[in-house]
Amino acid sequence: MDLELLEQTLARHGQPRFRARQVWAWAARGAASYEQMTDLPAWLREALASELPFSSLQLQRESRASDGTVKALFATRDGRPLEAVLMRYRDRRRSICVSSQSGCPLDCTFCATGRMRFARNLSASEIIDQALHFMRRDRGAGDGTPPGARPTGEGEHAVRPITHCVFMGMGEPMLNLDAVLAACERLPDLGVTQRRTTISTVGWIPGIEQLAEHDRPLRLAISVHAAEEALRSQLMPVNERFPLKDVIEAARAFYARRRRRVFVEYVMLAGVNDRYEQALALARLLAGPAPGTYPAAGAHAAPRAHLAAGAGQRSAAGLRAGGRGSSIFKVNLIPYNASVAAGGDPYRGSTRDSVAAFQAALHSHGIPATVRLTRGRAINAACGQLAAEAA
Ligand code: SAH
Repeated sequence: MDLELLEQTLARHGQPRFRARQVWAWAARGAASYEQMTDLPAWLREALASELPFSSLQLQRESRASDGTVKALFATRDGRPLEAVLMRYRDRRRSICVSSQSGCPLDCTFCATGRMRFARNLSASEIIDQALHFMRRDRGAGDGTPPGARPTGEGEHAVRPITHCVFMGMGEPMLNLDAVLAACERLPDLGVTQRRTTISTVGWIPGIEQLAEHDRPLRLAISVHAAEEALRSQLMPVNERFPLKDVIEAARAFYARRRRRVFVEYVMLAGVNDRYEQALALARLLAGPAPGTYPAAGAHAAPRAHLAAGAGQRSAAGLRAGGRGSSIFKVNLIPYNASVAAGGDPYRGSTRDSVAAFQAALHSHGIPATVRLTRGRAINAACGQLAAEAA
C-alpha cells in the first residue's frame, strides 16, 4: 500500500487526516481489501478500490516447502521482479526475509541475485507490501480479524503474527537505507519490533555508520564469508572498496555506540572458505571483548588497556583470555544453497561435518557460532533464486 498516495487520495476526497491511520491500521492487521474496512463509509471504500491499488506489488508465483517455508515472487507496478520468504519455526518464531532492491548492483560471485541485472531500489511501500502479503496470507480469509480471534484454517500456523524480519532478500539494504528505515518504522504495526529486525549488509561502511547513529534498536548483520582480504575480494568484489578490516572496525564502532551484538554471516563453501585455519583466522578477526567489559579471569590486560589497544593487540588479548573470544560478534554459519543458474554453479556447499568442525573451532576460541537451519531448499529459497529462474 502506497501510503503517500493514500494520503493524497484521501485529501482529494476531503477526508480528515485520521482516515489514513484508519486505513493503515486495517492493512497492518492483515485486511485483504478496502471492502473489509467497515468503519469507513461505503462510498469511500469504493472510491479507494477504484483509485488506489491495494498493494504496490503483484504476486507472480508462490511456492511452499514441506517445512512450511513459503517463498513469494512479486513484480512491482513497473514489472521489476523481487522475492520474499516466510519461515516458520517450531518455537513459534515466524520470520520474514524481505528484499530491499530488485536485483543487486554488487556482484558477489556465489549469489543468484548478484548474477541478475540490477533494476532499482524498492520504495518503503514496496518493502512493507512484502510483509503485508504474508500477514494476509496467514489471516486465512484475510478479513482483518485480530489474531487469535478466529478458528485456524491452516493448522497451528494460521493466525500467528510475524515476529521477526531480516533484510536478507534481494539487494543491498545500505544502498537504499532511507526506504529501509522508513519501512522499519512501520513494521512494529505488524507486530515486528525493531529489536527483532535485522539489516544485513556486505559491509557498506557509510550505511553501517548511519545505522550506528540511528536511534532505533535495529540489529546489524555483516556478510563476512572469508577472513582473508584476498579471498573475500574474490567472493565479494565490494571488498576492494571497503576492505574487511575496515568493515570490522565499523562494526566494532557500531557496537561501541549502540551496545547491540553484531551478527556475522558466513556462507560455507566446500574447499573455498571452510578449512580449520580459516576458522582460526575468523576467530582472530572477531576476537576481543566488547569495549568496557572486563577481560576474562586469568587475562593480564586491564580494561583500560583493552580500550586503548589497536585491533591487532585486541585480537591477541582476546585469544589469550583463555578462549573468552568475542562478546561483540555472533557468527551464523550458512549452509550454501546451490544455485540454479544456467552454465553451472562453481561452488558446492560444505559437508555437514565440515560445518560442524568449523563451528567447533570457533567455539573453542570463544566465538559464539550457530548453524543456520536450512529452510525451503526444495523451493530455491535462497536469495535471488526464484527471480533468476523466472527471468
Ligand atoms: N546484500 C546483503 C543482504 C542480502 S543477501 C548482504 O549481502 O548481506 C543475505 C545473505 O544471504 C548474505 O549473507 C548472502 O551472502 C547470503 N547468500 C546469498 N546467496 C546465497 C546462497 N546461494 N546460499 C546461502 N547464502 C546466500
